[in-house]
Parts: sequence; structure tokens; C-alpha cells
Amino acid sequence: MNNFSVHILGSSAAIPSVNRSCSGHFVSCNNRNILIDCGEGTQLQLRRFNLPIQRINTILISHLHGDHFYGLPGLLGTMSLLGRTSGIEVFGPAELENILEVIFKSGQTRLNFPFTFHPIDCTAKHIIFEDAGIKIHAFPLRHRITTFGFSIEEKHQRFSLDKKKLEEFNISNEQRKLLARGGDFQRIDGTWIRYNDFAGPKRPVRVYSYCSDTMPFQALDEYLQGTTTLYHEATFMQDQKKRAVETFHSTAEDAAQQALRSGINLLLIGHFSSRYQEIEGFENEARQIFVPTSAVKDGDCFQVR
Ligand SMILES: [Zn+2]
Repeated sequence: MNNFSVHILGSSAAIPSVNRSCSGHFVSCNNRNILIDCGEGTQLQLRRFNLPIQRINTILISHLHGDHFYGLPGLLGTMSLLGRTSGIEVFGPAELENILEVIFKSGQTRLNFPFTFHPIDCTAKHIIFEDAGIKIHAFPLRHRITTFGFSIEEKHQRFSLDKKKLEEFNISNEQRKLLARGGDFQRIDGTWIRYNDFAGPKRPVRVYSYCSDTMPFQALDEYLQGTTTLYHEATFMQDQKKRAVETFHSTAEDAAQQALRSGINLLLIGHFSSRYQEIEGFENEARQIFVPTSAVKDGDCFQVR
């Protein structure tokens, strides 16, 4: 199975601490590297966890609260100073373009690589990026300011093959590679070998969705259709439900309820308020409702399933 992984760069809400940085996820899928959110210190986290900074092709920014984007100008500046030449595409709220322009202009900073900004403007789920390997959707969340969630969907580039049949027909390793990519070929005796006749069971498509920051709301059920692994913020536990409502955030229980309704395989919760010393309670609270839940730590890596 192809690599489809999520590295957690930051799991703290609002304020970074020594152990928990602000929001950032590094997602790899079919050789595309996507950074979702870029809180302060994200470039250091990328280094700490040995992730390839210069191979990030796409950056998605959910909203303009500082803990989700203050690291972006610094990261772009570093990419340029380190000699980056390949382009990067940034998707985020429209105002972000001006913010970056002011910062770079004031410091007479020039990015030495092609940089494209795509403002997101949506009131429902829609595609913002698609190539041969992945598809990215954005959808609106419900928070104090305009905020977007994202879904990253893999595209199968290789077919699984029926091993028994391959052996039966004496298909060589080289020929197997061709079939796995969806190619047909002709044998010396003139017979055609077609990948369709050798295709094994279809693997389900994996989709990773990212919901931070948001309070629970009904349309999310629709936006998360097809999601298999969900990251959902859990800034508070139920003991602070009132505070969660006031600040347009979710509790661990809210996240778990959403996971249950969406029928996903794995729930990751993060964006924990610094008022909590221990994170264990978040996981316990969520698991009462949805068992396959992980309360994330910085540096954790999960396979999307
Ligand atoms: Zn926020």
C-alpha cells in the first residue's frame, strides 16, 4: 500500500509550550507533501522530526488565528534562504496574501522561488487542488472567524493484482510492474495480457480530513462523507463545555460524537488548551464514545487508514 501518513508537528491550542508546539500537520500521500497550518515554530518542528522542508509542495492554512499561521513567513523565508527553486502553492483565507506581502515588502525580502497564493472562498465543500495523485477539498468550519477544514484524498496509481493468477500465467516481475500501473502487453505468441483480467480486489480510497478550529455543527456530517481518518480539534474536555461554546471550540466528546456519526476508522484529537496539565483525560473522554481515538503528541506519525 502506498504511503499516506500524517506527522503531528504541533498539538497545543493558542500558546506553544516546551512539549507542545502550535498547529501544524505534515501529510505525505503519493509523493506529495502537504503542510496543513503553520503555527509559530513549525519550521523547527519539521527539522526536529527530520521532515523534508524543501519537498513541501502545498500549504493549507485553515484560518488567521496566530497559532495556525504565525510560522508561515518564517518558513517561506527559510525555504528561500536555503536555495529553493521549485514552486509552492499556498491556499488560505484571502487576507493572508496581504499579510505576507506587507511582511516581505517591509523587510525587502524576496522569495527566490515561484510562489502562488490561492484565496479560499467557499460556503460549501469544493475542490481546491487536484493532480494525478491526490485531490484536496476545502469546506467551511464554524469558528469565531472565517475558518476552513480540508480533506486530502488519495488516488490509486497502482492496482493490486491477483497473485495466484500471475503465477498461473507465469508473469515476470517486470511485467507485473506494468500491470500494476494499469498497462497491457502482448506476448511473443501474440496473446494479449490485460491488467483488467489480473486486477485483485479494489482497495478502498483513504481520505484524511482536518477540522481545526470549530464548534460542532451539522453540515460537517456531509463534508466528512468518505473520510477514513479524521483529525478533529478537542480544545477542551466536557468540564469546560461552556467555555468551548463561548470560544467556538469543541470538546473531546464533541470530536468523538462526530467520529461516530461519520463512521471513520481512526480519530486523532489535538489542539489542547494549555490549562490542562494532563492529556490522558481527553483520550478517555473520547474513547467512551469512539474507541479508535488517539490524543496526539508532537512528533507522532500515523498512517491514514
Ligand atoms: Zn482559532
